Amino acid sequence: MEEVDCIVVGAGVVGLATARALALAGREVLVLEAAEGIGTETSSRNSEVIHAGIYYPAGSLQARSCVEGRKLLYAYCGERGLPHDNCGKLIVATDEAEAAKLLAIQARAAANGAELHLLSRDEALAMEPALHCTAALLSPSTGIIDSHAYMLSLQGDAENAGATFVFHTPVLGGRVTNAGIEIECGGAEPMRLHCRTLVNSGGLHAPKLAGAIQGMPAAHVPGMWYAKGNYFSLAAKNPFGRLIYPVPVPGGLGTHLTIDLGGQARFGPDVEWVESLDYEVNPRRGDSFYESIRRYWPGLPDGSLQPGYSGIRPKTVPPGAPAQDFVVQGPRDHGIPGLVHLFGIESPGLTASLALANHVAEVVAAG
Ligand SMILES: Cc1cc2nc3c(=O)[nH]c(=O)nc-3n(C[C@H](O)[C@H](O)[C@H](O)COP(=O)(O)OP(=O)(O)OC[C@H]3O[C@@H](n4cnc5c(N)ncnc54)[C@H](O)[C@@H]3O)c2cc1C
Repeated sequence: MEEVDCIVVGAGVVGLATARALALAGREVLVLEAAEGIGTETSSRNSEVIHAGIYYPAGSLQARSCVEGRKLLYAYCGERGLPHDNCGKLIVATDEAEAAKLLAIQARAAANGAELHLLSRDEALAMEPALHCTAALLSPSTGIIDSHAYMLSLQGDAENAGATFVFHTPVLGGRVTNAGIEIECGGAEPMRLHCRTLVNSGGLHAPKLAGAIQGMPAAHVPGMWYAKGNYFSLAAKNPFGRLIYPVPVPGGLGTHLTIDLGGQARFGPDVEWVESLDYEVNPRRGDSFYESIRRYWPGLPDGSLQPGYSGIRPKTVPPGAPAQDFVVQGPRDHGIPGLVHLFGIESPGLTASLALANHVAEVVAAG
């Protein structure tokens, strides 16, 4: 059986960043990906926002990796000339009750290391004349990125540092051995490989793969739930230059507007719990978007929202449960040397990817 030093399962943005970090640290890295190329699942079905790190509980891995990852990502994009735009974001209050919540949002963001500036109605309207609001918060560090250019760059770095990528190769399962982990792969050429280190960065499928490794304690394998996020694109001229978010509602961020690097606007994602990985967008779900968007953009034209695309959040807790933090689970958690799982890497996983990769590399190095 072939022996490999380090195998990374999954070539989404987090798997790619992890493969890069491990290869740059001098490890021999093999990336096994079930799909035909990089980033075909959640990493190509998101808002492409570089998040500031505003809403996550202080001290959580989401908060820490978002703030650190955001700084690393801007620096990386700058060094490589990758398409991105530090356009900023406004969180807008549309009545006095919402305005009263802005200070609490600002305080939480500050605890995470994310700067927010309180704006009067006039200051906000001077920036975005199409807005309706009573007050707003400006997040100067929020931005947008071409995630595919970023992922290609990560793959290039990893390959230049010696990593090998194999596509069309699902990892079906494995078993813990005395000296590492043996895995079984499907695909055109089914094979068995033995490695010293296995990083499971399988996104939506990570818990399933963890459960298919004999010797992995079942108590450490989380459940799998899917929370789909549907987007509706704006088939009209976008009047905004920044991302526009309402004050969060219980259980979600509200119907927000994000823009791509071409200036096109889209609204969403909403939250729809689903049983399977079905990415079709039900056009009826857009009906409820109009009212919530018009609270902050009264000029939204009738009939201008078109079904866009969707992404699915890999949840490790069921609907109604308190939000789950990112989980990077290593030998100190489950007791198996060389085995690292990433669970529940939903938003802000794109922003956090370089920081998460460094964290995984540290967990791997610690044995
Ligand atoms: C609706 C939505 C909006 C989001 N918006 C943002 C945003 O604006 N900003 C932000 O920072 N983050 C955002 N995120 C989060 C971000 O997209 C994810 O955190 C990130 O893409 C996760 O990357 P990943 O590599 O962990 O997973 P994925 O991209 O899902 O990659 C996992 C890969 O593993 C492969 N794989 C799985 N199992 C196996 C196996 N057994 N064998 C071989 N290969 C396997 C899959 O084929 C896949 O390619 C959003 C997420 C969603 C759902």
